[in-house]
Amino acid sequence: MDVSFVIPLLNEEESLNELHNWIVSVVEAQKYSYEIIFIDDGSTDQSWSVIQDLHAKNPHVKGIKFRRNYGKSAGLNSGFSVAQGNIVITMDADLQDNPEEVPEMIEMIQTQGFHIVSGWKKKRYDPLSKTIPTKIYNYVTSKMSGVHLHDMNCGLKAYQSKVVKNIEVYGEMHRYIPVIAKWAGFNKIGEKVVKHQARKYGSTKFGLSRFIYGPLDLATIMFMGKFSKRPMHFFGVLGTFIFIIGLLLLTYLSIDKIINHTYGIANRPAFYLGILMAIIGIQLFIAGFLGEMISRTAPERNEYIIEDHI
Ligand code: UDP
Ligand code: MG
Repeated sequence: MDVSFVIPLLNEEESLNELHNWIVSVVEAQKYSYEIIFIDDGSTDQSWSVIQDLHAKNPHVKGIKFRRNYGKSAGLNSGFSVAQGNIVITMDADLQDNPEEVPEMIEMIQTQGFHIVSGWKKKRYDPLSKTIPTKIYNYVTSKMSGVHLHDMNCGLKAYQSKVVKNIEVYGEMHRYIPVIAKWAGFNKIGEKVVKHQARKYGSTKFGLSRFIYGPLDLATIMFMGKFSKRPMHFFGVLGTFIFIIGLLLLTYLSIDKIINHTYGIANRPAFYLGILMAIIGIQLFIAGFLGEMISRTAPERNEYIIEDHI
């Protein structure tokens, strides 16, 4: 199969028919073999029955319905695991993403060898309260992760199938799929300017909380990518460093007392700092050991993505 469309949705009943027809008109013009996988993320409106009707009319339409709302990442992850196409397209269900961009994105993967082609909503039709923080967020993410995209969280993306089959998205991690993919070794990441439009029906499903959780998730991803298989390298180095500074401070104070007969050392600020740093240093060291013990028992401790073998 050429293309799988993976579309997570929450309460998008008004948009689904239109979206389906739009996608079908594009794939038919291109003569792709395709499937459209709708993941109903616990909608409370009629979304699921709309999907059932679409499936009855068009066997290329498939659907997964969650018992409750688990989040967009969960939807994407489930869609990824069943997708059969050589290329997997993700897009939002709210008609903000334009399926007419898809053929060119696929073309970029095929001719330029990209693992991922990510959409870039250069001209956005969203409220300012969203576009300005998003700019800052994209800048920080690009600097921290080394994945230089203008629009990391664009819903419209095209992937080689092997990318989505080898990464796992959960929690709110859908915002950082390119970073996760890069850590997994899929580092040819391209970008295509895509047309965007204002939300036609319904309202946005993500509130301001995204700006609190987003940065925390980025920190998690950066940490997991670098140190999840060797936590001691992080905690051990940091712990040892801090412990040694604490120890030096205390040693200095002790020597000072012995040589200069200073009266007491408990009244000196360096004393408290020294103790604090020694204790924190040991704590970090222990955290490193605990991390190592946890990663020893992690089921994926010996999972590697094998590109090829003969
Ligand atoms: N969505 C989802 N589960 C959620 C929240 C959102 O599947 O818990 C879907 C939503 O229906 C849409 C896509 O994720 O298809 C993007 O959401 P939305 O358009 O509300 O986000 P925005 O465009 O405002 O960033
Ligand atoms: Mg939207």
